[in-house]
Amino acid sequence: MTNLAAYWQNYINGAWCDGGAGRIDVTDPATGEKIAECALADAADVDRAVMAARAVHLSGALTDMRPIERGRMVQAMGQWLLARKDEIARVLTLEQGKPLWESYIEVEGAALYFEYYGNQASTVEGRSIPLGAGYYDFTDYEPMGVSAQIIPWNYPLEMTARSLSAALATGNAAVIKSPEMTPLTNTYFAQAAAAAGFPAGTVNILCGLGRDAGAALASHPHVNQIVFTGSVPTGIAIAQAAAGNVVPCVLELGGKSAAIVHDDADLDAFENDIRWGIYFNAGQVCSAMSRVIVHESRHDEMVERAAKIAKSLSVGPGIDRTEFGANMGAMVSTAQRDRAAGMVQTAAGQGAQIVAGGHPLNRPGAFLEPTVLSGVTPDMTIAREEVFGPVLSILSFRDDAEAIEIANSTDYGLVSGVFTRDLDRATRAARALRAGQVFVNEWYAGGIETPFGGYGKSGYGREKGREALWNYVQTKNIAIKLKG
Ligand code: NAD
Repeated sequence: MTNLAAYWQNYINGAWCDGGAGRIDVTDPATGEKIAECALADAADVDRAVMAARAVHLSGALTDMRPIERGRMVQAMGQWLLARKDEIARVLTLEQGKPLWESYIEVEGAALYFEYYGNQASTVEGRSIPLGAGYYDFTDYEPMGVSAQIIPWNYPLEMTARSLSAALATGNAAVIKSPEMTPLTNTYFAQAAAAAGFPAGTVNILCGLGRDAGAALASHPHVNQIVFTGSVPTGIAIAQAAAGNVVPCVLELGGKSAAIVHDDADLDAFENDIRWGIYFNAGQVCSAMSRVIVHESRHDEMVERAAKIAKSLSVGPGIDRTEFGANMGAMVSTAQRDRAAGMVQTAAGQGAQIVAGGHPLNRPGAFLEPTVLSGVTPDMTIAREEVFGPVLSILSFRDDAEAIEIANSTDYGLVSGVFTRDLDRATRAARALRAGQVFVNEWYAGGIETPFGGYGKSGYGREKGREALWNYVQTKNIAIKLKG
């Protein structure tokens, strides 16, 4: 039994409220059944939220505070989430489909952002610039003001935590447009902010349709900065809206990321990279390892190992998958599942071989078998376009130059990987790969401390790490003319 509240409201200016656009049904992707309703914001709600955030900013309540104190409040939000992780993880699995153990990882990951950026609050320091005896000159970093954050459905908690924690640590107020398919868990941030003592209007959480509330938020004249995580077409629309108001935006978009696996790679260890790289969150990860480019001498062995991993996963409702292990949950919706399954069939039509999975499960819910395709060539659609599902494409290469060329042959450039025991070869590849992050010998090496973002159509700007702090502040230079 789900035991969820039947109706979840939006949170504007410190108050829970209905949505001007009515309500939206929230569905459990593991069953296809409705589990709750969420308030749906319209443009008027967005306007109220932005004006509330602006009022907090202009009041000086956040900016006047000593940063170390603001940082403590940010950290308190993370602690608040951790103290309720059983409840939040359960809701996350019910709305998104991932195994319960993965939801725990996500709640803990979200809390870690508040810990990390809370710690950074007092480290955003300016510098003094020598101009000779007649002047005293220094720089200061000031918060942008109102940060608008538009969130995707795949990691609703972590994606919001990532941008919200950094925005608050640097003294901004925020308006979050939560994803329409997975809006429930985002409401916990409102409670956490209130519990931590942030003034009403500092954190506003709205669920709304992208074309409606999302577009209204991106184009609102009193938004000072935008963080968008989602698809390329929407990213382009956001960038256009941001340009209309001459405000900066960070775009974290999709990927078609590749691991290059050399003939000397440790394939026993790489099995783990397959498990996490493409089947974690049912492959609905922007930085998923969706392509493996393997040296031709190890190709057949790689295909065999990947198929073995895919077939070893038990697929079913995430709520029953409580323990870390060889299992996978539902995709977020049947529409996403059918899109991914359709791409697999197109790949087969273009000459790829389906060596594992490829089909929806014959049961209710948005389940897709963990899938491996071999015989994929760089010109196939499956090698160029993001599937955003549990589908691994295996390609082969003859020499290092060809491996790099294939890896770099898509419009994207989010992350990349190279697997070899040869440090020179790995270092040369790391330099040549066009991606914002390169993993050597472990997919997803790194952490919230390491900057993350794309080359090419994967977006611009960086989230995570200290780099992200500069998204939320603007530089002011102060030059003082000294007498005498
Ligand atoms: P999406 O672009 O459809 O939606 C993302 C968000 O944008 C949602 O909240 C949606 O309501 C909103 N939106 C949609 N149209 C809008 C508009 N015209 N104006 C303003 N907002 C609008 O993406 P999605 O399907 O939810 O997410 C999947 C995509 O996100 C994938 O491509 C994935 O790679 C990418 N993603 C990237 C990262 C990253 O950090 N790089 C992380 C997660 C997901």
